[in-house]
Amino acid sequence: MDHKEEENSDKSFSEERNPMTLPKGSKPYWLYFLFLFLILFSIFNWTATKPNEISWLTFEQTMLSAHDVAKIVVVNKESAEIYIKEDRLKAPKYSTILKGAFMSKLGPHYAIQIGSVESFESKLQQAQQNFLPEERVEITYQNRTNWTAVLSWIVPFGLLILFWVFMLRGLGRSSMGGGSIFNFGKSTAKLFDKDIKSTVTFKDVAGLREAKSEVEEIVDFLKNPKTYTKLGAKIPKGVMLVGPTGTGKTLMAKAVAGEAQVPFFSLSGSEFVEMFVGVGASRVRDLFKQAKEKAPSIIFIDEIDAVGRSRSKANAFQANDERENTLNQLLTELDGFGTNTGVIVLAATNRADILDKALLRPGRFDRHIYLELPTKQERMEIFEVHLRPIKKAKDVDVKLLASMSPGFSGADIANICNEAALIAARKKKEAVEQEDFMEARDRVVGGLERKGKIISPKEKEIVAYHEAGHAVASWFLKNVDALVKVSIIPRGKSLGSAWYLPEEHQIVTKAKFIDQLCATLGGRAAEEIIFNEVSSGALDDLEKVTKQAYTMVAYYGLNDKIGPLSFYDSTGENERFLGKPYSENMAMIIDKEVQALIVSSYNKTIELLLKHQSKLESLGQLLLKKEVVYLEDLEKILGKRTKEIPAQVRD
Ligand code: ADP
Ligand code: ZN
Repeated sequence: MDHKEEENSDKSFSEERNPMTLPKGSKPYWLYFLFLFLILFSIFNWTATKPNEISWLTFEQTMLSAHDVAKIVVVNKESAEIYIKEDRLKAPKYSTILKGAFMSKLGPHYAIQIGSVESFESKLQQAQQNFLPEERVEITYQNRTNWTAVLSWIVPFGLLILFWVFMLRGLGRSSMGGGSIFNFGKSTAKLFDKDIKSTVTFKDVAGLREAKSEVEEIVDFLKNPKTYTKLGAKIPKGVMLVGPTGTGKTLMAKAVAGEAQVPFFSLSGSEFVEMFVGVGASRVRDLFKQAKEKAPSIIFIDEIDAVGRSRSKANAFQANDERENTLNQLLTELDGFGTNTGVIVLAATNRADILDKALLRPGRFDRHIYLELPTKQERMEIFEVHLRPIKKAKDVDVKLLASMSPGFSGADIANICNEAALIAARKKKEAVEQEDFMEARDRVVGGLERKGKIISPKEKEIVAYHEAGHAVASWFLKNVDALVKVSIIPRGKSLGSAWYLPEEHQIVTKAKFIDQLCATLGGRAAEEIIFNEVSSGALDDLEKVTKQAYTMVAYYGLNDKIGPLSFYDSTGENERFLGKPYSENMAMIIDKEVQALIVSSYNKTIELLLKHQSKLESLGQLLLKKEVVYLEDLEKILGKRTKEIPAQVRD
């Protein structure tokens, strides 16, 4: 499963950027810049007069079905320009076009972003199914030079030359600090002022109980520093939030600022490391300066690994000086301010192990708070938080939602809730129902359902038996998660899918690993049994199996020949070395053992499916007929499963 994540933008803070300041008393070189900028801007603007962007639905329902469309031009395989027939332009729905510049009458009048030419064509064809041949809209294709792209080459180049000229003249006269013309050195930290009260509080952060209680201490310090300082206590300066993406690190930092009602400066690590040399370091300097002026305050550095990656020996001959300078400056700043100045630096990373040890020394980021993927109970709480603003139907069962989304992060859950509301709105419902949430979950896990995707009957048959193979194999294997649904409706990139309800385990036994290999190989095995030939359709499965087998043999020490050895490297340092941490001879043994493991699992699967061949065939048939088969039908064909099926799946 790979989870899609969506950036959840938070509107509860308003941001304020530093205004550009110009050097006082220096010659008006900035006029040249302004001039150049204006020229470029006008060229850019002229070429970029774009037609109105509309959605496919609007296009189909208001234009295509009314036979208003004169022609369609597909440009660069990315967008389709719509030309409306001249005599139809007078209709009230097109009134905005006629009001525009005189050019706009000629068109193109509208544009649609298309995913791919094929899917656009097939949608168009479907939409025009009932049209007479002479009513069909003609499509032409064009390739155009993308002026924006060309300009994006020219502009930096021009700017660089001008910048250089400026530097040479200005050298020795003006200092290169924060006062320089573009304010390169100024931090882009967003300042969230105290007057604009942040609405994010601990109430918006669900689960994460331990992390919250640790963070509460920081809030308390920011609010009542005296209670601590009068006893001579030293307040931590730097706190590292460690956890996978989407677990709420940013949210937590914002909540701290919100609870303590202090200014919040946030900057992403990748913003430190930019094109111009020396910028990162001076940004750091400036960020701390601003924060200290507003103390008590919070600095939040997201993705600190972008700057703080360890400077190991392996990196020496390809050192990134810029990054190193930035890191050094960060360390200097951290050491430079006293313990009790009232500035607390929070940083977020998803990999604490690759950070430079210097960052983690006492007095720097010496406190670590771990944010982990939520457990079932925590997921329930996160659902509750995100269901608050949603109008939900009575049948919504939060407990079931939580148990159907194992391994999901807080961001995934926020995404599901939003998706569900969108789905319900599209269906013009009064409230969001349980089925909308389920659909949203499937979409977040597997991508969009694509019922319109055209596959030939033969292909469909292969997909049906392939999926039936996964289903039957997993049904009769003791250690595979509960199967809840099999579908051959194309979704995202895949043509079919089997849905499991994973149990949450921290430890996986060898037997379970092998059963999982077999279940994943079930698709390919079924193809071989039913059609006596194999297809390319098992690529994803085979990739997964191969990777899994390598981790079993080389990392988890689950192979008898190799024994309890692990070549796993938790520090990530080996990634940078060429070559492997074992000999050629060992490499050969590993390869051989991995192959043997997969082949034997495959044979075992074939055997298992042959034993249940009639069931495999009837499930394949049913899938071809129904496209989606649920637990009830699965049990009818395959019998009750020996493995206990969690009760909540049944209803
Ligand atoms: P990170 O910084 O760890 O990648 P974010 O803080 O940006 O994650 O989380 C993204 C979004 O996911 C948040 O804006 C919030 O809507 C949701 N979210 C994540 N964790 C939680 C949580 N524990 N409680 C409520 N919402 C959460
Ligand atoms: Zn498969």
